[in-house]
Amino acid sequence: MSTFNTKKFITLTVLTIFSSFVFSQFNEFEPSNMREGESIEYCLQHKIHNKMMENPDYRASYLADKEIQQQVIEMMKNDENFARGVVYKIPVVFHVLHNGGVENITNDQIFDCLRIMNRDFRRENEDAALVHADFQGEPSDSEIEFVMATKAPNGACFNGITRTQSPMSYDGSNGYAQVNAIVAGNDVYNGEWPGNRYLNVFICGDIGGAAGYTNYPSNWGGTNMRNGIWVLHTYVGSIGTGDAVRSRTLTHEVGHWLNLPHTWGDSNNPGLSENCNDDDGVSDTPTCIGVTSCSLNSNSCDNDNAYWGFDKRDNVENYMEYSYCDKMFTAGQSSRMRAALNSTVGSRNNLWTNANLQLTGADGNTYLCKANFRANNLSICVGESIQFEDISFNSASSWSWEFEGGIPAVSTAQNPLVSYPNPGKYKVVLRVSDGSNTLEESKESYITVLAQSSNLAFSRRIRGLPNS
Ligand SMILES: [Zn+2]
Repeated sequence: MSTFNTKKFITLTVLTIFSSFVFSQFNEFEPSNMREGESIEYCLQHKIHNKMMENPDYRASYLADKEIQQQVIEMMKNDENFARGVVYKIPVVFHVLHNGGVENITNDQIFDCLRIMNRDFRRENEDAALVHADFQGEPSDSEIEFVMATKAPNGACFNGITRTQSPMSYDGSNGYAQVNAIVAGNDVYNGEWPGNRYLNVFICGDIGGAAGYTNYPSNWGGTNMRNGIWVLHTYVGSIGTGDAVRSRTLTHEVGHWLNLPHTWGDSNNPGLSENCNDDDGVSDTPTCIGVTSCSLNSNSCDNDNAYWGFDKRDNVENYMEYSYCDKMFTAGQSSRMRAALNSTVGSRNNLWTNANLQLTGADGNTYLCKANFRANNLSICVGESIQFEDISFNSASSWSWEFEGGIPAVSTAQNPLVSYPNPGKYKVVLRVSDGSNTLEESKESYITVLAQSSNLAFSRRIRGLPNS
């Protein structure tokens, strides 16, 4: 026991010291990979990896990990059944580190992000059919899915999302310090969320000038929670502060997290001619220098003949490019990611086990653990309406509302629209049920209804008009 704790202490200490080393180097990175019109770099994974490789201990561990993962990759090549047919489900937790501003994105934006990750990894994206003619038929279903965890490490029920309010949201100079803030201050469970049980995603206001970064699976970091993914809130999902073009950032970062390099290899920057001598370890992605725009005619290296028998153009539309017109993983990339999930490196092979899916509440057997609601407006004028929204979790199937002073006074709709005919302060009650259990949330004086005349006076005041 004491040995284990000592080892753990040393590991954490080393991680902490080394994290300062890695993250203090952020300002050294030249922002050379920016997309036109963007003020931030798409991904810092390769730069962090190369910086960490300067540490001899990390380098030794990385090379040993690479050996282990290569053995699994070879094993898969020889066993079709092992390689395909099993859908791996991974429990995900989204940790929102915010400081009370727009970076405190909605649950809807996060669920939209999860939808996009699953769509892309299962090749359910309609634009997979629109890839360049040279890659028709090649977009691959990775048979990897992402499921919201609904149980915290202590068993507490939640909806897969934690929220932490801290100024650290906008201090991207040290990603590990941001995680420390989440560990100490989130609203679900204060402690470590082990990386062999959850894919931890850290959503922040700034992450050192990048849209996203992570690292390869690693025994060096072990099951540490910091082997997760950092992402800027504007690159999460396609709604809210996100948008469709930026929405595939997590598809790209999860690729790294499952051992995929960029298509041009591990060198620092895309667009360099020497990248033709680098490789991503995936046989069916043509050698390339890496592009930062959607140049579909790009054919940047001429040494593809060994695999293709001809000089194939660049797979610009690959998720591991910087093109912002990415639509696909190749079969080779899918195999490499599935090998990572069957490897002991970083304990990725524990994530999708039935035991872990049960432990993290990602097995589909969710239960009702919180009744809650919100309104689109807390203060209205007489006669106006309020849209109420049920935000209970997980798996509520019936709703019973009471609206003091409202019309209707009761409702069984999930998201009712209610009007208020008289001025006053009114209570709202919601009871939710999953068929066996019922939970209640009650909010006193939740809605304020103003008389028309007082509102008119207020309106005149703010416009600088005299009351009449
Ligand atoms: Zn990347």
